[in-house]
Amino acid sequence: MLAVTLGDAFAMPAAQPICGCTDLTHEDVRRLIKARELKSQPAVWQELGWRTPNGCHVCRPAVNFYLLADGPLEYQDDPQSRFVNERKHANIQKDGTFSVVPRMWGGITSASELRAIADAAEKYDVPTVKVTGGQRIDLLGVKGEDLPAMWADLNAAGLVSGHAYSKGLRTVKTCVGTDHCRFGTQDSTGLGIRLEKRLWGSWTPHKVKLAVSGCPRNCAEATCKDVGIVCVDSGYEIGVGGAAGMDVKEVERLVKVATEGEAVEWTVAFVQLYREHARYLDRPYKWLGKVGLDWVKETLGDAATRRALVERFDLSQTIYQTDPWAELAVREKARAFAPIADLTLEAAQ
Ligand code: SF4
Repeated sequence: MLAVTLGDAFAMPAAQPICGCTDLTHEDVRRLIKARELKSQPAVWQELGWRTPNGCHVCRPAVNFYLLADGPLEYQDDPQSRFVNERKHANIQKDGTFSVVPRMWGGITSASELRAIADAAEKYDVPTVKVTGGQRIDLLGVKGEDLPAMWADLNAAGLVSGHAYSKGLRTVKTCVGTDHCRFGTQDSTGLGIRLEKRLWGSWTPHKVKLAVSGCPRNCAEATCKDVGIVCVDSGYEIGVGGAAGMDVKEVERLVKVATEGEAVEWTVAFVQLYREHARYLDRPYKWLGKVGLDWVKETLGDAATRRALVERFDLSQTIYQTDPWAELAVREKARAFAPIADLTLEAAQ
């Protein structure tokens, strides 16, 4: 009707392709990967008529994610199709050094972990040690060639990568809850640790941050996270789609459940639904804005669907829940972090 009324003045906005390598949108590519059961990047380029032989820096990370999220058993992650921080497993800083953030489950640490972090900071001349907004400790200014040895030292103390650089599960922030706080209604720290141990290592379309507060006073700031749980006397209120970055947004209520087990199930199922349907680089709040919270509630409200999502997430975790620091600190792989030889010295002789 609009087209008839407005004539040439009316034009539907054209769907944006992923990049110049194809006319297909993210949604087209995702649908066709599933429909045609494509299991590799070359199969995508070939079967979907890519104009370039190997994709580009825009489409390769997206296609890499779609393939690993939809076929974790058949497809192996391609590090060369990842952004530099994910390839290096550390965030590159403006002076070319890196930041290292060990994982602290639910924001809890110990004297021995802190000692190991302090030892690493001294041994590798780390200029800045900072506490992050996600309740972790950030070692800033690490030289690239020191990364593998530092990771090995931290691993030896039981610390693994905090994935502070990844499009994946980052942190689960918690308050002290019933363990220490007189207002606490549930064990918010315990739930945060349980969630982080279940979700760590998973790749997602964009970074994912969680928080659990022990009561509506909300000391863990759960209401501005991708998934935020606020404990109350009668259970757990799960909110989704919060943001506190370029956009600031309060979570919307997904569900209220009575038990900790249900809170974990709903959270894992939500993350898997996001992994299976969101466009690469859409945070959950952006994805929710497209599909609508009602559709998510309806989908997750079906117990069989919810459990199937959890099963698929757990299956993926059997492959991807690994510590990249432990893998990269071995001597053969550590060579990739060595500085490039200074060839100008030989030329000057
Ligand atoms: S959110 Fe509630 S339970 Fe948690 S620390 Fe604050 S007041 Fe205590």
